[in-house]
Amino acid sequence: MNRNKPELPFHMEMIFTYGVAREIWPGVRRVVAPNKGPLTQNGTNSYIIGQGEVAVIDPGPADPSHLAAILEATRGETITHILLTHTHKDHSSLFTELAEATGAETCAHLPIHENRGARHQSGAALKADFVDFSIAPARPIKEGDVIEGNGWALSAIHTPGHAPDHICYRLEGQPVLFSGDHVMAWNTSVIIPPEGNMAAYLRSLKKLTGGGYERFMPGHGGQVRAPERLVKAYLMHRKWRESSLLDHVRSGIGTIPELLPLMYPNVQPEVMPAASLSILAHLEHLCEQGLIDCKELPALNSNFKSN
Ligand SMILES: [Zn+2]
Repeated sequence: MNRNKPELPFHMEMIFTYGVAREIWPGVRRVVAPNKGPLTQNGTNSYIIGQGEVAVIDPGPADPSHLAAILEATRGETITHILLTHTHKDHSSLFTELAEATGAETCAHLPIHENRGARHQSGAALKADFVDFSIAPARPIKEGDVIEGNGWALSAIHTPGHAPDHICYRLEGQPVLFSGDHVMAWNTSVIIPPEGNMAAYLRSLKKLTGGGYERFMPGHGGQVRAPERLVKAYLMHRKWRESSLLDHVRSGIGTIPELLPLMYPNVQPEVMPAASLSILAHLEHLCEQGLIDCKELPALNSNFKSN
């Protein structure tokens, strides 16, 4: 096993103005919401697909200025469909409001209510209220479904891992995928149990290899320009993380507070809860593979031992 940390080819740059739609691919416009943050980079990307009769992917967070920006960007056009990549509020809060304003058909994965949010027994963690339980799509979306409009079609690829209901959408006839929070150019996807599941995430990453993609349009940050290379780099990076965690646990370091500074030496305080939960997701995955053990349901305050 290669013990050298594989570098991830991150791209931070992004040309945009808040509230202003910008064409980033023929027939694809992007409007960025002003919910900048450590887990959202510059904010949530809402995408407008087509011309005249359009679809909106991820209407974004509960911000009246962002709703107004989407309506302004599509003035004189009809929004026929509103799609969600997943039911996290930074993507979905305007789902119903935009549908009420436009009469568009709402499309999303059927709501999942079990095993959602973050497991945070230690107290120092993310709140679970980032999941939007209010989503009730008129048209439930599942793997392989094709949503068609005037001059465009999007096919759904179920990609659980970051969220159990995560869907990526391929723009039919184009080498373009709307990748949501599954694959982004500026950071790795946040996998926090039980909302996130590492085994599912790795399977969902493998699902995107070999598709001939040239661009991923993520939920946050700029476009991914060599997406298949990035997906492979992510898979290697996760493998490296797990093998180094396994080494640490085998050497007797078995708690997340001890592992955190070893795994993320330069972590900023505001992302420490997410980093801790990401370590938990990996440890959970190592437990599932029978490589390490934990007496109870793995949690932030658990003690892990090698088998
Ligand atoms: Zn997001």
